[in-house]
Amino acid sequence: MKSFKLTVLGARGSVSVSGKDFSVHGGATSCYRVQAGDEEIYLDAGTGIVNATPLENSRITILLTHLHLDHVIGLPFFAALTNKDRPIDIYARERAGLQPKEAVDRLIDNPFWPAKIETYPAKVTFHLPPKRFSIGAVEVDTLEGCHPGGSTIYKLTYQGKSLVYATDFEHEPKACAALTTFAKDCDLLLYDAQYTAAEYERFKGYGHSTPEEGIKIAELANVKKLLFVHHAPWRTDKDFAQMQHDFAKINQEIIL
Ligand SMILES: [Zn+2]
Ligand SMILES: [Zn+2]
Repeated sequence: MKSFKLTVLGARGSVSVSGKDFSVHGGATSCYRVQAGDEEIYLDAGTGIVNATPLENSRITILLTHLHLDHVIGLPFFAALTNKDRPIDIYARERAGLQPKEAVDRLIDNPFWPAKIETYPAKVTFHLPPKRFSIGAVEVDTLEGCHPGGSTIYKLTYQGKSLVYATDFEHEPKACAALTTFAKDCDLLLYDAQYTAAEYERFKGYGHSTPEEGIKIAELANVKKLLFVHHAPWRTDKDFAQMQHDFAKINQEIIL
């Protein structure tokens, strides 16, 4: 069996952070690399993508959940853009009436940046993700989550294994029911755990969730492993150690 492997390149939400309090869990914003056979699929392009060294001979795809800065700000620094022999396919939904290319052109252009995406040697093609499509042997399913301006949830299935990436997701009841069905029996769920339950009271409507809500969905959906993502910029390594301790008694296998 060929490998189906996830690498966390950045799991910080909202803004990148650095310093001694963030040395274990890191401070780069949303980016995950999935290797599935010959496919190299990036989930979001936050500052985590800056640390990505593209693999040899793989086909590169970037699946963007939405276009908030913390999910796209690493794109101009993606090493694969400097290689003219590596085409890159980017999938993103239309947001605020803009096609993905139009939206990226607003960000990666003067005066914010001195180059446009087409200035880079790599040939980049933008696509609107249908509800279901394939990237080689990887099946991709999509679902819209609950987030200001929208955010796409992706499910990747390869050789009978599946992972679901649900970031920038707020646990509104209808959205939770839809995600529970969507993530049913998946092997790994990446879930937005930006806030603690106490913090959430101050940040209702910001489009993020809590570890407790993730655990509820994971249990209902019979998810095998749960990985919390999109952590608040103020969450220190010490806080993570405490959370790990607090969630150790839960059945589901939980990773922070
Ligand atoms: Zn975000
Ligand atoms: Zn967002």
